[in-house]
Amino acid sequence: MTARAILMLVLDGISDRPCRSLNGKTPLQAALTPVLDKIVSRGSCGIMDTIGPGIRPGSDTSHLSLLGYPPAQYYTGRGPLEAEGCGIHMKKGMIGFRCNYATVDTNGIIIDRRAGRIHETRSLSAAIEKSVDLSRYGITLQFRSGAGHRAALAFHGEGLGADISSNDPKKEGVVPPPVRPCSKKARDRKTAAACNEFIQQSRVILDEHEANERRRHRGEPPANMVLLRGAGEMGHFEPFSQRYGLSGSVIAAATLITGIGSVIGLSRVEVPGATGSVTTNLQGKIAAAIQELGTKDFVLVNIKGADEASHDGDARGKKEFIEKIDESLAPLLTLDDCLIVVCGDHSTPCEIRDHSADPVPLVIYGEGVRADRVTTFDETACAEGGLHRLQGISLMPILLDLINKAHKYGA
Ligand code: ZN
Ligand code: ZN
Repeated sequence: MTARAILMLVLDGISDRPCRSLNGKTPLQAALTPVLDKIVSRGSCGIMDTIGPGIRPGSDTSHLSLLGYPPAQYYTGRGPLEAEGCGIHMKKGMIGFRCNYATVDTNGIIIDRRAGRIHETRSLSAAIEKSVDLSRYGITLQFRSGAGHRAALAFHGEGLGADISSNDPKKEGVVPPPVRPCSKKARDRKTAAACNEFIQQSRVILDEHEANERRRHRGEPPANMVLLRGAGEMGHFEPFSQRYGLSGSVIAAATLITGIGSVIGLSRVEVPGATGSVTTNLQGKIAAAIQELGTKDFVLVNIKGADEASHDGDARGKKEFIEKIDESLAPLLTLDDCLIVVCGDHSTPCEIRDHSADPVPLVIYGEGVRADRVTTFDETACAEGGLHRLQGISLMPILLDLINKAHKYGA
């Protein structure tokens, strides 16, 4: 028998370097993970450079690579993917941006880049989309909320460029700089000017909005500024179903990942309580994945929380979240006609609080897989496995071979 379907479970930022606060262990080594260890004992393991050795991946470029779309060929910036993930259908000629709601004081100085980690911004985004007027640039716009303080913007108009700077200084205590063109081209100058106009107009709308009145009243920071970055046009993606002959779904809270899923034609499954943080509904995501595998050939699940804990430098929190993930995976052990792939998309060492180029652990488990001698799922144990050290772009061909969908090269 050969496995019929593939579950690709990406544990975002799961791998790490030795942490002082964990006595020199990585969070994955320190965590008790009986379910993952069972999967590993029956599976084939390795470590993987999701993009290439020494390249620090973003979550977007690494996921493209894991899905078999070389990022050097397909990646055109974070903005268009975020926009797609927030429900904006990106067409040719549109420019997409990733946005943050932030808080500025009366002098325009940023006092919170995430507006107090505001949860609900839909009424604010609707007001911006309805009232900001960029008709003097010949631009129509869409502005949609993502999870938490996140949002996305898209411009639609003639002669727009994407080679522009951001107004996000990536720190607090300073005034956001104006958006500037990064070339002398008229189209980049036009987009930069329209961005600055958008920022000005949206600031007035946000300042007067009743939702912000209520936040001030409760002593919460108002979401009174939009920071934008990652400008880009949408690239052209061959649909996943055409590329591999497989139907598929994506389950993720991060709009960056659902955006990638949407542009390659994976159906998007919403899971109540999926937040992209350590409080996410893990059981719900795994149950939804198992349900999707009943009718689909491929399911991508992204679990984000470990990356968030790493960016906060919280090694203990990361270890505890890994144990929660492990517990939620128990139902996967009963799947009998699926390949299960568990891997990271990049390392996010807690001690550097950012992504690193260290390879990630990987296990493939299921019918037809040759088990190796590795028995625990961590960065060093998996390096001893039968898959050795792979590049992310090789993962899909290996999986297609295991489910008998690969084509022979030669006679
Ligand atoms: Zn990531
Ligand atoms: Zn990250």
